[in-house]
Amino acid sequence: MPQIRHSRQREAILSFLKDRTDHPTADVIFENVRQDLPNISLGTVYRNLSLLSDRGEILRITPGDGKEHFDACTAPHTHFICRSCGALLDLDYRMPAGAIRSAQSAFDGLIERSEVHFIGLCGDCREKEAPAL
Ligand SMILES: [Zn+2]
Ligand SMILES: [Zn+2]
Repeated sequence: MPQIRHSRQREAILSFLKDRTDHPTADVIFENVRQDLPNISLGTVYRNLSLLSDRGEILRITPGDGKEHFDACTAPHTHFICRSCGALLDLDYRMPAGAIRSAQSAFDGLIERSEVHFIGLCGDCREKEAPAL
């Protein structure tokens, strides 16, 4: 029953992602999910991640490190990227309501979504670089 197997794999991916707040990449998800489902392939993990993000069940984040990261928290929030250690953290800040509409008003294309990242030093790296502050 391939259909049942497929949904089990998707559930395993989704439940792994729901336990994490560090926005793992497909590789990290694959390495963890295969502990429980040894027959799963990296391609299957990619396909399911695409499907889940197309359905809006998870977020796909492209912070510019050449990798896609995934987030099970789909409530509006923004992200912070540490320029030193690369940590991708959740920020408890949401874009002002109407931000996309404002951007759209001066643009003749179609804006479908926004992805906002703040960049700087995470708490740990800030401590290391400037312990006196
Ligand atoms: Zn850092
Ligand atoms: Zn997030």
